[in-house]
Amino acid sequence: MRQPKVRELMEAIRALFGKRFTTKFPFEPSIPPEGFRGKPVYSTLDRDCVGCSACAEVCPAKAIKVIEEIAPDGKSGKRKLVQHPEICIYCGQCERACITQKGIKLTLEYDLATVDKTANASIVEKDLVICQNCFAVITTFDHLMWLSDKLGTLSFTNPTVMLAKQKELELLENIVKDSPHPRGGHLRFLCPNCRREQILKEQW
Ligand code: SF4
Ligand code: SF4
Repeated sequence: MRQPKVRELMEAIRALFGKRFTTKFPFEPSIPPEGFRGKPVYSTLDRDCVGCSACAEVCPAKAIKVIEEIAPDGKSGKRKLVQHPEICIYCGQCERACITQKGIKLTLEYDLATVDKTANASIVEKDLVICQNCFAVITTFDHLMWLSDKLGTLSFTNPTVMLAKQKELELLENIVKDSPHPRGGHLRFLCPNCRREQILKEQW
């Protein structure tokens, strides 16, 4: 039989009295190392996530579902983003592509075993802005406000962003009430197609 070398014996003795590398999980929580990619979670802070759905667009596993619910009159609605950890491959693309860089973060949470598929879903819900002409979804109100903050005074060059800002400042109702509407289309939320048609109509 092959005799152990002195170096191997020393290593065995060191391992016997040295730091343990195994953990007592699941009896004690195991702390994941730095850079660990655990369950992605949407921020609950107001406007960390603006509901733009860029995270869903880039998700290679299609683990983020975008559900839009429109009211029966077609004038309002909600966009819900649902992140499904049971489909997620923990690539981190959603966090990387998030336009605010704060909307969705991969956490250290890994203990996700459950019999209820919906139990671990992270959900965020936002108000939609609907075109007042054709009732198409434009985007979310918070997304328009994020654009307005990014653009600063330039946001006044885009009627839809400008109207959202005025709505936020509770000015919109007075402006609509007081205006004789010489160019009425400018005082309505319109999708890009309807906006283009409106501008063309005004020019001719
Ligand atoms: S970590 Fe990757 S797979 Fe999971 S939700 Fe984000 S983009 Fe999709
Ligand atoms: S703000 Fe970030 S987390 Fe929220 S929908 Fe957009 S990309 Fe996703």
